[in-house]
Amino acid sequence: MTISSIFNAQKSNHGVLRARSSQQRIRQLQALRAKLIHRKRDICDAQNKELKTCDMDTEAQLMMLNIEIDFICKHLSRWMKPRRVKNSQATMGKKCYIQYEPKGSVLNISTWNAPIAINIMPIIGALAAGNSAIIKPSELAPHTATVTSEIISAIFPRNQCAVFEGGPEIAQELLNHPFNHIYYTGGHRVGRIVMKAAAENFSDITLEMGGKNPAIIDATAEVSNAALKLAWGRMANAGQVCIGPDYILVDQMVEQSFISAAKAALIRLYNPRGYGFKNCAEFPRLISDSHFERVKGLIDDAISKGAILEFGGEYDAEQRYISPTILSGVSDTMAIMQEEVFGPVMVVIGCENSEQMLSAIKRQHKPLALYIFSKNRSTINYFLHNTSAGSTVVNHNLIQSGTNPNLAFGGVNHSGTGRIGGFQSFLEFSNPRSIVESPLGWRDININFPPYSKIYKKL
Ligand code: NAD
Repeated sequence: MTISSIFNAQKSNHGVLRARSSQQRIRQLQALRAKLIHRKRDICDAQNKELKTCDMDTEAQLMMLNIEIDFICKHLSRWMKPRRVKNSQATMGKKCYIQYEPKGSVLNISTWNAPIAINIMPIIGALAAGNSAIIKPSELAPHTATVTSEIISAIFPRNQCAVFEGGPEIAQELLNHPFNHIYYTGGHRVGRIVMKAAAENFSDITLEMGGKNPAIIDATAEVSNAALKLAWGRMANAGQVCIGPDYILVDQMVEQSFISAAKAALIRLYNPRGYGFKNCAEFPRLISDSHFERVKGLIDDAISKGAILEFGGEYDAEQRYISPTILSGVSDTMAIMQEEVFGPVMVVIGCENSEQMLSAIKRQHKPLALYIFSKNRSTINYFLHNTSAGSTVVNHNLIQSGTNPNLAFGGVNHSGTGRIGGFQSFLEFSNPRSIVESPLGWRDININFPPYSKIYKKL
């Protein structure tokens, strides 16, 4: 079936979807969860073929989906009820409430770095809110795209939810349709294309993009603890995590001890028995040759401009492998500070004080995530109050995403717009319609109807 015919079939089905009770929606979401669990082995195998992702990392993505489905199923009946709001003087005697209604047709253009999670996560909220949905997985994760398509078609009729596999040409064709909401995850270049396409139809939009996420380590931080956590955060998925710490601003007083601790942490996490990082099952590959070349180019450029290779820097182009790498002495003139690294490179920048760290952060766009490692409450507050980011973790990293549906996930400006997670997902794909019901009869005839001369006479 063509994209247009599915789009139109979904549109014709909106009345039915909207009328479904919370229990009907919940039953479908529970069936989706059961199918994801049932196909766990296939999903793990698919992601292993694409990124050499280990089972545990794929299971972590499935766990996030499980948490989201559980939470939404638990609260959906309440969220779907009209929410009565207080009256103001001007609405006295009337009934005021907010009714969440589905937006209609939702499109999810997904990416490849956590493909099963990103293909499915947004549509949980979209379907819970009573919308139809089309998923366009990334062509760079084609095995997961196929499993996603099989799972979705096993649970949902195509006039409710469908998957279109393929590359940019499929995304472009989809974008020619007047979706009510477009959800996009990926880089800035395509984000601009998606935003322009959304503008053509005044579609609502969520953009989940990336950027340069700073991590701050002040002189009071527990350095070896921070090093272990950041080594994990930076090297998870070989650095291909949107909320990964992109560059580390460390107080010069503790810079050397941080670098030593980070080296030890990398060995402890990814080469504990000395068999080599390349043989570590928990250390994946870069997704494509062009991503491999891009990350290698960033490392080479930084070294040619004076950065110090503290650790790693080994490559195997055939396997798209770059070993866990630490660079210090990095400056803004290097390409590595002008784009998101999205690879297994820890960029360390020594700073004299908090003001210097803040000015480095301000030279970049507002990030998706910002991390602060410190024992000093006033330093923590200084960075919280003087910066902006989609999310922040104090004394850890990466743990804010997919772990607690009471938190919202999303970016700011260049790192994205819109929020999902728990109630935010329901809200993101709903229209909160304000309804005022006036009593029947003459009681509510406004005193300020014309002729206004009556009012002036009273004043
Ligand atoms: P991308 O932007 O190249 O591709 C993403 C999607 O866009 C794919 O489905 C692709 O088919 C589609 N696409 C590509 N060209 C297109 C075109 N011309 N028109 C329409 N659609 C097109 O993906 P990428 O840049 O390799 O993804 C990595 C980026 O994603 C990183 O910046 C990362 O930070 C970001 N990311 C963000 C989040 C988040 O939740 N904020 C999560 C994961 C990844």
